Amino acid sequence: MAGSIRNMAWSLLVGVAIFLSIGLGLPGVAASEEHVVSGEIVVTLLGTGGPEPTAARFGPATLIQAGGLSLLFDAGRGVTVRLYQLGISSGKGIDAVFLTHYHSDHVEGLPDLWMTGYMFGPFGSRSRPLRLWGPSDGKEPSGAARIAKGLTEAFSDDTRIREADEHVTPIATEIEARDFQPDRVVFDESGVKVTAFTVDHGDLIKPSVGYRVDYGSRSVTLSGDTKFSENLINYAGGTDLLIHEVFAMSPQLATLPQLKPVADHHSSPEQAGEVFSRVRPKLAAYTHVILLGTAVEELLSRTKAVYPGPLVVGEDLLRFEVGDSITVKRWDQNLRKYSD
Ligand SMILES: [Zn+2]
Ligand SMILES: [Zn+2]
Repeated sequence: MAGSIRNMAWSLLVGVAIFLSIGLGLPGVAASEEHVVSGEIVVTLLGTGGPEPTAARFGPATLIQAGGLSLLFDAGRGVTVRLYQLGISSGKGIDAVFLTHYHSDHVEGLPDLWMTGYMFGPFGSRSRPLRLWGPSDGKEPSGAARIAKGLTEAFSDDTRIREADEHVTPIATEIEARDFQPDRVVFDESGVKVTAFTVDHGDLIKPSVGYRVDYGSRSVTLSGDTKFSENLINYAGGTDLLIHEVFAMSPQLATLPQLKPVADHHSSPEQAGEVFSRVRPKLAAYTHVILLGTAVEELLSRTKAVYPGPLVVGEDLLRFEVGDSITVKRWDQNLRKYSD
């Protein structure tokens, strides 16, 4: 009896908490789940790290909002947590997910995003399939479709239970995968055009793409994971904001043969700097920041030796508002809002 009263009290508390959280949009009280509808492109770096499971930088994930759409590029570790910090639902708050390639650090947050997104609550409540775009590797089913099929099978117990128990709509548990050939427009909705282009992440890591997002006269380009890439420079021509990966080692570590294969798949600060100086964006920014035995100051000085233009080293939740000019905003975790 005591147990059932405790259970009732607990249910009541959970009910009130859910009610409050839905009503107030907790926990990102000051943030808004409203989609952006203006002439701007708003870019938020949700995760700026790589495979290292560090709390300082979550896995690669970038949110691009334009034309009333919220598009997610890569779904690295912790993406669902970062979205929730901003008060954005992993379910109804995301219109499409685009993968740059199939390395684990870019995909491992996807099961969480998908499953949390179909649960009831301010963090979920998706009422349609999760839409997933990924580059085709020529196999059948390829890339994104294999992930969709595998996840659906691996977690079929959860979807079956929640559909029966919590009345989650079956369509919300579906993943609609779309594989594409790169070097073309792969998405065109509400005035937002997404172009995928081939990059060079090494001979064994194919397909790998970067993305360019155009909306009105604004544009943002994401390098994905790549070595120095001429194709990236071509596709990024005239872009406002160029967000590039970087891998920087101290001179001592650079001599270690064990690190050479990894370094060969990425761009050094000097190589990224050359890309920036050829493209000349309004603003250059780093994400997928991997620093081995070196620091941000060193990364900046090595880049600036090649590229003296405007440059920002990304950090998780850093936001760019791309309008006539580009405004950079930092997330204040205490105030739970962006500083002005
Ligand atoms: Zn990566
Ligand atoms: Zn990679």
